[in-house]
Amino acid sequence: MLAEVTGSGEAPEGGPKFTLELNQDQKDIKEWVHGFAEGVVRPAAEEWDEREETPWPVIQEAAKIGLYGFEALGQFWADDTGLTLPIANEELFWGDAGIGMAIMGTSLAVAAIFGQGTPEQMGEWIPQCFGDADDVKLGAFCASEPDAGSDVSAIRTSAKYDEATDEWVINGQKAWATNGGIANVHVVIATVDRELGSRGHAAFVIPPGTKGCEQGAKVKKHGLRASHTADVHLDDCRVPGSCLLGGKEKLDERLARVREGKKSKSQAAMQTFEASRPTVGAQALGIARAAYEYSLEYAKERRQFGKAIIENQAIAFALADMKLEIDAARLLVWRAAWMGRSGQRFENAEGSMSKLKAGEVAVWATERAIQILGGNGYTREYPVERMHRDAKIYTIFEGTSEIQRLVISRAISGVHVK
Ligand SMILES: Cc1cc2nc3c(=O)[nH]c(=O)nc-3n(C[C@H](O)[C@H](O)[C@H](O)COP(=O)(O)OP(=O)(O)OC[C@H]3O[C@@H](n4cnc5c(N)ncnc54)[C@H](O)[C@@H]3O)c2cc1C
Repeated sequence: MLAEVTGSGEAPEGGPKFTLELNQDQKDIKEWVHGFAEGVVRPAAEEWDEREETPWPVIQEAAKIGLYGFEALGQFWADDTGLTLPIANEELFWGDAGIGMAIMGTSLAVAAIFGQGTPEQMGEWIPQCFGDADDVKLGAFCASEPDAGSDVSAIRTSAKYDEATDEWVINGQKAWATNGGIANVHVVIATVDRELGSRGHAAFVIPPGTKGCEQGAKVKKHGLRASHTADVHLDDCRVPGSCLLGGKEKLDERLARVREGKKSKSQAAMQTFEASRPTVGAQALGIARAAYEYSLEYAKERRQFGKAIIENQAIAFALADMKLEIDAARLLVWRAAWMGRSGQRFENAEGSMSKLKAGEVAVWATERAIQILGGNGYTREYPVERMHRDAKIYTIFEGTSEIQRLVISRAISGVHVK
């Protein structure tokens, strides 16, 4: 667990110290993001949910105050306890999840470039994912396909190397890409050798304006509607050799190792996924907390049978359980975030645990919130129905709840559970 939240994670001299108290930097960032969520995001939430469009003016506001951009992500990441990233995400998504995802969706592409790119590639492409406050841009990460969701090994999008021109030629169709088609930079996962399954995959940057990379159908969604989701078509899409993240030499070495039957680095990839999961869990927590707070206030105000509805145990206990589950989920999120940042091994899939718990708590708590608001909760006059619609995606994307349970059960048992 957390050895010391305020320091490097190592016990200070004089014996072990355990604290969950946030340090001043963490408190400042929490307050800063909360202020933006409360003052800018919340008031815009209903409008952009109804419009089902990317809230460009809100993203621009975020860029103006330095919340949207590489510097902000760098600042969150710089905290060596790992807590600032989930704290910032929880606060932003407390404001609104659709707008939160419109702001944070770019970080999926950035994480792929940061995780797999060379220093030159990071320097070239990450700034282009964000643009600047006068001209904001987006990034998109495209892995899923119509027939490859949970089963990423089934990816069909292919990348073939054209030696004559030192270009990669990419063909295929991507599904459900956040910011797909409207992003400046797309990161696409393609197979360079289908026989090798996921070990034959590589990540490519598709630079702005590349011919053959087009948006397909825009998806109309149940929730998270301020975040753009669309298919992306790649038709003879040619990108320079330098767009292969990590470079060709590294890819060739890796493929040779796999073909020789040696161990690939899939374990390392799994560790990377585990490390990014608490951030997603923190987004779900933000939604759950927003619904809890709203329904708590409502229950104190709403009167039936001559008393506030919270005076009934049925309502008060529901709220007690909501608070309990949200706090429990946050502890799992913080533990996994700390483990990921301080390089601990996820022996029991603690990253998956955090995302699974937070996602399921968000769905459950937002449903409870609707129940507490009664008829009002079911209408669009009140925000909890939107929160419930938004929460549902957290048991689906970034690994469904079933897939998280698969990862956890394999980790704890050592058995290849199917
Ligand atoms: C709003 C939204 C945004 C998204 N953004 C992105 C993005 O930016 N980039 C991207 O690449 N993708 C994105 N996705 C895709 C998302 O990651 C996939 O939808 C998700 O991985 C699930 O895949 P699937 O929809 O094909 O479901 P399927 O894999 O078809 O699963 C269907 C059901 O079967 C279950 N199931 C499947 N396999 C097993 C198994 N082995 N054991 C038990 N149960 C199983 C699942 O848990 C699920 O309940 C997004 C999706 C949505 C809806």
